Amino acid sequence: MDCLPMMVQLRSKYVEVATLCPVCSSADETILHALVECPTAATCWERTGIGTGLHQNCSFLVWCTDVFQQVDKAGKEIVVAVCWSLWNARNDKVWQGKIVGADGIVSSAKNFLNHWQNAQKSVIETTFSGLIPGDAAEHWFAPIIGRIKVNVDAALFSDPHQVGIGLVARDSRGFLIEGSTKIFQGNFPLSQSKQWEFGRPSVGSRRDNG
Ligand SMILES: [Zn+2]
Repeated sequence: MDCLPMMVQLRSKYVEVATLCPVCSSADETILHALVECPTAATCWERTGIGTGLHQNCSFLVWCTDVFQQVDKAGKEIVVAVCWSLWNARNDKVWQGKIVGADGIVSSAKNFLNHWQNAQKSVIETTFSGLIPGDAAEHWFAPIIGRIKVNVDAALFSDPHQVGIGLVARDSRGFLIEGSTKIFQGNFPLSQSKQWEFGRPSVGSRRDNG
């Protein structure tokens, strides 16, 4: 729970910073203060119906454990999303001087949560997308240090005048270097489309199991 670089934490590591909260300037910036006690954070917790329920000598870990015991699964997801959003808003203030109010923080937390929930749904939906058994058996492996791996794939559409390709380039740490998709219009007889799919002459790469 001491992993976030709050001002008090940084000071304890001998980093020369003021310990005062950069958002409200009324207390030291501890994790509990930043994510719960700071007036903007407290307003966010009130708006989400979770409240702060702070008591004497409370730590963030104690607060979090208490809250998790009182809410259901959806409530726990909101707690995590609001914490993430509060942390991002705090960084926006420190690094860009941007002030994000409680409304903005709560709505960004809800957006974040919606995106995450939709991503979970789409993982489930892929089981109905026509994938054939064995498709999931392929796993991506990072290239060796100093090499870049480019994975490409092509899509054939029911419309014979369209083919699409996509590529992703990643380094040995798996970090994305470049990604692109392109749709080509024209006359593509099935045999040529198949050649695109398996030969991929335009991007000079190859399909592999990783
Ligand atoms: Zn504050």
